[in-house]
Amino acid sequence: MNALRLMTRRNVVAGVAASAALSVFPCPSRAQSAARIVVIGGGFGGASCARSLRRIDAKLQVTLVEPNRTFTACPFSNEVIAGLREIEAQQFTYDRISAEGVTVIAQAAVSIDPQRRAVGLADGTSLGYDRLVLAPGIDLRFDALPGYDKAAAEKMPHAWKAGSQTVLLRKQLEAMDDGGLVALAVPAAPLRCPPAPYERASLIAHYLKTRKPRSKVLVLDAKDAIPQQRLFEDAWKLLYPGIIERVSLSQGGRVTSVDPATNTIVTDFGNYTAQVANVIPPQQAGRIAQIAGAADKTGWCPIDPVTFASKLVPDIHVIGDACIGGGIPKSASAANAEGKACAEAVAKLISGASPAIPRLIGACFNMVAPDYAFSLSGIYQPKDGMFAEIDAAGTSPVDAPRDVRIREADNARAWYRTITVDAFG
Ligand SMILES: Cc1cc2nc3c(=O)[nH]c(=O)nc-3n(C[C@H](O)[C@H](O)[C@H](O)COP(=O)(O)OP(=O)(O)OC[C@H]3O[C@@H](n4cnc5c(N)ncnc54)[C@H](O)[C@@H]3O)c2cc1C
Repeated sequence: MNALRLMTRRNVVAGVAASAALSVFPCPSRAQSAARIVVIGGGFGGASCARSLRRIDAKLQVTLVEPNRTFTACPFSNEVIAGLREIEAQQFTYDRISAEGVTVIAQAAVSIDPQRRAVGLADGTSLGYDRLVLAPGIDLRFDALPGYDKAAAEKMPHAWKAGSQTVLLRKQLEAMDDGGLVALAVPAAPLRCPPAPYERASLIAHYLKTRKPRSKVLVLDAKDAIPQQRLFEDAWKLLYPGIIERVSLSQGGRVTSVDPATNTIVTDFGNYTAQVANVIPPQQAGRIAQIAGAADKTGWCPIDPVTFASKLVPDIHVIGDACIGGGIPKSASAANAEGKACAEAVAKLISGASPAIPRLIGACFNMVAPDYAFSLSGIYQPKDGMFAEIDAAGTSPVDAPRDVRIREADNARAWYRTITVDAFG
């Protein structure tokens, strides 16, 4: 039994960090079952991976490094913005994961030394590893859109990481007078959850239609085609006629700069001053992936899709939004599936066996109204060094009757319950 499990939770944090600091050098003769696996990032990818590792082999020493004691989930956070649920419904602790024998350390990882196989933590201690899994999600690029920095995000929230930004955007909508303009700036791909900006536009329109019916939503988009375009456009015509307007890339929708002082969004073709400006900036893999040297010049991490091993740094695996997944969209569903598949692969590599070819299932629900949703799902496997969709498992039909959309909304809520239990217990 891992002696650390006998300590209290508070002591575990200090104790593990202190003992690990003394043993940062890898030990080649370490018994396979006592291998040390450190997972950085306790989101959908990292939490699922850490739990799966312990389930595959209870003797593995699995440590999850995550600075927040409570995780706030993005899926369904658009409902929080639209006043349809509270932020608390998005929040999960790591208690269950700790109880399963994963050592949870409430610190940020700040450095990685791949030669010494050591992770430096914000409190100055360090942790040794035999294998390291990076699951840090995304960082917002505050250098990519002129005028948009961290301070601007307090005026023009992105709400692309759930938590205080989600609540800020909701409060701005609540404070807005009827007749106001809500503008959403959407970046070019790749981005976390490609359909989520349009789900957000829909649910904000739902809020406006029911509470501030003279107001409008303007989507300024750096893309022409969007996921499930026909389904979104049909739903907007049916549910929100005249409320949502989308300006695509070729219509001049690409945002080139913003001015937080006046809440102005600038495009190639004109300026828009909004009462509420939701600016989603370009993104890249979480900073620790850059620090590790696991990200390439695109800002994302190339991986071997069979093992999730970094193509750039040995003994490091990358999962979730941070990795270059090829055909599999960046989603909680994908991160969860990748976390489990990565755990299988890491356990096999540690025991000297060959990892199996993973088969990932991804599903994505889009809530357009509380009783109206549609979905897209696929099955993905490695092909030509990337994940490719091998079977379009299903997309909602374009001409489905209303009761199908109602059922899909129920399925979406059931999916959220399942995936959060799967990741956090
Ligand atoms: C508005 C919105 C709606 C969405 N809706 C859906 C949906 O309906 N369905 C769906 O499947 N997906 C959805 N997504 C996408 C989904 O949230 C992400 O794809 C998913 O969270 C990715 O998981 P991850 O584990 O890679 O990253 P995350 O879940 O973001 O977890 C990353 C974790 O790493 C931690 N971390 C970062 N850096 C460090 C560090 N240095 N040290 C330690 N820890 C660190 C962070 O604190 C965080 O907890 C949505 C996203 C948004 C923005």
